[in-house]
Amino acid sequence: MSTVSAPSPRSARHRGKPAERPPGLPGVPGAGVPWARALLVVIWSGVPAVLALWWQNTIPGSLHSTADWLTAGGRIAGLLAAYLLLVLVALMARVPWLENRVGSDVVARYHRALGEYTVALAVAHAALVILGYAWQSGTNPVSEGVTVVLDYPDVLLSAIALALLVLVGLVSARAVRRRLGYETWYHVHLLVYVAIGLAFAHEFAVGADFSTSARNRLLWSGAHLVVGVAVVIFRIGLPLRRSLRHRLRVARVVGEGPGVVSIHLTGRDLDLLRAEGGQFARWRFLAPGLWWQSHPYSLSAAPGADTLRITVKDLGASSAALARLRPGTRVWFEGPYGAFTARRTSGRRRVLLIAGGAGITPIRALFETLPGRGSDVILLYRASSAEDLVLHRELQAIARRRGFGLYPLVGPRTAGGDPLSAVQLRRMVPDLSEREVFLCGPAGMTATATEHLRYAGVPQGRIHTESFEF
Ligand SMILES: Cc1cc2nc3c(=O)[nH]c(=O)nc-3n(C[C@H](O)[C@H](O)[C@H](O)COP(=O)(O)OP(=O)(O)OC[C@H]3O[C@@H](n4cnc5c(N)ncnc54)[C@H](O)[C@@H]3O)c2cc1C
Repeated sequence: MSTVSAPSPRSARHRGKPAERPPGLPGVPGAGVPWARALLVVIWSGVPAVLALWWQNTIPGSLHSTADWLTAGGRIAGLLAAYLLLVLVALMARVPWLENRVGSDVVARYHRALGEYTVALAVAHAALVILGYAWQSGTNPVSEGVTVVLDYPDVLLSAIALALLVLVGLVSARAVRRRLGYETWYHVHLLVYVAIGLAFAHEFAVGADFSTSARNRLLWSGAHLVVGVAVVIFRIGLPLRRSLRHRLRVARVVGEGPGVVSIHLTGRDLDLLRAEGGQFARWRFLAPGLWWQSHPYSLSAAPGADTLRITVKDLGASSAALARLRPGTRVWFEGPYGAFTARRTSGRRRVLLIAGGAGITPIRALFETLPGRGSDVILLYRASSAEDLVLHRELQAIARRRGFGLYPLVGPRTAGGDPLSAVQLRRMVPDLSEREVFLCGPAGMTATATEHLRYAGVPQGRIHTESFEF
């Protein structure tokens, strides 16, 4: 085992930033991960299918006037919005394949990006259809809008659905989201399900693509049914079944450092969960004030047949309250989830782990469970002070036992340079570009370290990150 302190501030001062931005940084979140790419292909392949639906119900040569084009644009926007809405819900259905292969954080990022298109398309749908009708009849768009909403079948419900979607879009905008508590944002978000239900009737009542075709109605209803069943099974049924079956309880709560505790859990047949180091679950502690919310925490040790452990930093009211949990408290959970596991190494044995702050939790579990020995696995553990190096003794014990490299990088970043700069990384890990890299820490550290790793020659596809922010 080797242990070094942060590189000298003087030597690192001019090495903090790469001289130039490395080429090929991905614009698409998760690019480079084959499963994520496959998911994008599946999602986008639905778009031509939706356009075909519109084309099939458009009489050839029927688009003459501006009004025709406006209405056609509105119909296409509406179909795409309805399709994407279904995709958004499917992405959040917690389907194990998506959560464990593509990765929960990547799925959440796709959901957020597609959400913006969906709201824009839904607004465009309403605006273009009303403008088209107004153009056709020579009325003004406002009075035409009132007529459409009040007189056309089920359109009033769809107008309410549109208002709900816009509300959800607004609370999800970064500037607003930052000011809202997570729970408030989450519960407003659930209105999307209400919006889908309210909009559904008008699609069949006034949507030319469905009102004239029983086959299209069947396909569309079938798609909604499949997604609805997936939501019920994976968001409600499976977590309920697992929580009842495995009967998790708090065994003890152990202080690990300033504001950090480990919660040891016991349960039955936990090996059947097939949890892996690096994964997380959403935990619901059935204690006063805590039972109504669930929070994601990663496993911070290798899962056992009847024990699990998480390690929590007190970042807010709920995480701070976990330090006061009593032994015996029942725990319900959803998971395990996450693709931040040894499977990502595709058999490659040489691995570099980089952790910062609470990001040490999944990295600690990986350090314990990754295959290999000696210099196969190296861990760089970034902290601003020695007392923030939580779980350090355990890490030292694992490093001793398996011969792995452990490098605590201690010191504030402002002390000069970045110990995770490309130059320092290459110095500490000369065979860096040959390794799979697992990275977990504060968002800023993760972004900068990723950039330095790319600059130091690590291909994007070999950098695996876990985000603690959805
Ligand atoms: C995949 C994943 C794994 C995580 N693993 C760990 C871990 O091992 N150890 C650890 O200390 N922390 C971990 N976190 C972070 C942890 O979930 C939050 O710190 C915790 O939920 C904060 O809750 P709070 O009510 O105490 O704080 P708040 O003040 O409510 O929130 C603090 C921050 O956490 C976010 N947050 C709050 N509730 C949730 C929620 N239910 N889901 C997602 N984000 C939420 C908020 O948006 C905010 O950015 C993980 C997060 C994710 C997404």
